[in-house]
Amino acid sequence: MNFLDLAAQYRSIQKEIDAAINSVISRSEFIMGPAVGELEEKVATYCGTQFGVALNSGTDALIIALKALGIGAEDEVIVPSFTYIASAETVAMTGARPVFVDIEPDTFNIDVSTIERVITPRTKAILPVHLYGQPADMDKICQLAKKHNLKVIEDAAQAIGAEYKGKKVGSIGNVGCLSFFPTKNLGAYGDGGMLLTDDPRIAEMAKKWRIHGQSKKYYTDFIGDSSRLDTLQAAVLLVKLKYLDKWTHARQAVANKYDTLLTATPGVTTPTVSPDRSHVYHQYTIRVTHQRDALAAHLKQKGIPTMIYYPIALHQQKAFSSYGYDQSAFPESRQATEEVLSLPIYPELPQDSIGSIAKEIKQFCS
Ligand SMILES: *Cc1c(COP(=O)(O)O)cnc(C)c1O
Repeated sequence: MNFLDLAAQYRSIQKEIDAAINSVISRSEFIMGPAVGELEEKVATYCGTQFGVALNSGTDALIIALKALGIGAEDEVIVPSFTYIASAETVAMTGARPVFVDIEPDTFNIDVSTIERVITPRTKAILPVHLYGQPADMDKICQLAKKHNLKVIEDAAQAIGAEYKGKKVGSIGNVGCLSFFPTKNLGAYGDGGMLLTDDPRIAEMAKKWRIHGQSKKYYTDFIGDSSRLDTLQAAVLLVKLKYLDKWTHARQAVANKYDTLLTATPGVTTPTVSPDRSHVYHQYTIRVTHQRDALAAHLKQKGIPTMIYYPIALHQQKAFSSYGYDQSAFPESRQATEEVLSLPIYPELPQDSIGSIAKEIKQFCS
């Protein structure tokens, strides 16, 4: 059994993918070919924003979002302490300081009730992460941002297509950041990402940033970087985008089946989805209150792969040790690191695999 089966997905659309790749190669349109602009338009329309700027990675989308909002040295950005490192690393890379807050135990997303007490005159932005594919509580986040004159950057790397009160993630804050890393719900065949925004100045800056801050070839307005999305990747993504909703529904069906099969399993909590949101299940992550690691080992021995996203909270990372966080801070984040277990979930996951995974978990936990 696989944790994810990208080869199965490729086989299901092989003809279209091969044709798209061959077309780019035969025309040698490797850098900024027409597929890039087309993808930007289609993804922005899909997500409900005016602009999409295709970039080399989701990490670059975050960095450029922060820079475009003027965030740098002396500034602070509020980030959940339980997420992938890129959400906070990018803040640090601009020279600003990530200020961590705890998460909600049920959704694993930023706990909005803890944000206000860490706001200082240096705070410039809130950076919610739609973890595992479920939107954070955006209304409350945007209200707080408005009250304190802060920007909102959505890390939507895991959540393309997820909706909060009918709006797609990435379109709610000032800037949204997507990742097309191969394992993400819309994955390229290499690295890729996109910045989403309704603000033409931010889009403009991002478009220059990815070509060394140039407005015109060899004329540099500011120090930027080399961060374009390859045309080959854009061509692959254009094919895959057509299937995204279908794949999302298939993921949701897998999740519903797990939910049903795992109800009333002692010590196991299935994901909670808030009623005003949709969850696109980048991960299906359960909480296991006792012997999580023993369960993972048992499943492995039965040929069932699982993953722990994430085994360490950000304030406990060596990289952030200089910030002097108390190791005992953010109890919900720490507890999550000890209890989360992500199960295989992808559109092509066979029905009987879901059944056998659930059966093994039930047997072990009962
Ligand atoms: C994947 C991911 C990123 C980074 O995206 P890359 O394309 O890998 O650079 C950022 N934040 C979160 C939450 C992610 O899952």
